[in-house]
Amino acid sequence: MSRYAGPACRLCRREGTKLFLKGTRCFTEKCAVDRRSYAPGQHGAAQGAKGGARKMSEYAKQLREKQKVKRIYGLTERQFRNTFETASHEPGVKGTNLLVALESRLDNMIYRMGFATSRRGARQLVCHGHVEVDGGRVDIPSFKVEPGQEVRVAADSREMVPVKLAQELASRGSSLTWLSVDHGKFAGRMTMRPTRDGIPTNAQEQLIVELYSK
Ligand code: SF4
Repeated sequence: MSRYAGPACRLCRREGTKLFLKGTRCFTEKCAVDRRSYAPGQHGAAQGAKGGARKMSEYAKQLREKQKVKRIYGLTERQFRNTFETASHEPGVKGTNLLVALESRLDNMIYRMGFATSRRGARQLVCHGHVEVDGGRVDIPSFKVEPGQEVRVAADSREMVPVKLAQELASRGSSLTWLSVDHGKFAGRMTMRPTRDGIPTNAQEQLIVELYSK
């Protein structure tokens, strides 16, 4: 299935939570989840008025959780499933392995390091050749970054407005324990494999494991 190209905010409203898909807008009063906290579509508002959350089956809960995490990281169904299959063959807890694999993607690393305000923006930076890994350009968003590899914004791309804006915002925020970022050099590294506690993604990954294990 192809990548979703519709309004990002609709996805957040469908999941009933902020997925932070639109960068700085997500932190303003313009956020659609804050303004219309009911599901999109013809019957969304009516369901909200009746008290919202319908009783969901176990399967529905698992499916919604999978959709939510897939949308947070911006993957297609096939990419997400493949990521899960690969991660589940590694030693350790399957759900944690899945999140670590998602966090290790080059587009996510650019976002986490603060060189883009959203994963969508990070994906664009990578696709357009603005990112280097260990000194060589890499334009594949799914590229798996290993601990110790240096990720940086290419020298001739550092004056781009989105990169500067993201940098400015990121330098005010908190950083992750498994990342070291040098904002002055537009570069960073994954210093170690993330632990589950170190991944600030609101996910119940066990539900996804159960869904894909049926
Ligand atoms: Fe989601 Fe951000 Fe849109 Fe809010 S502004 S609904 S968090 S994408």
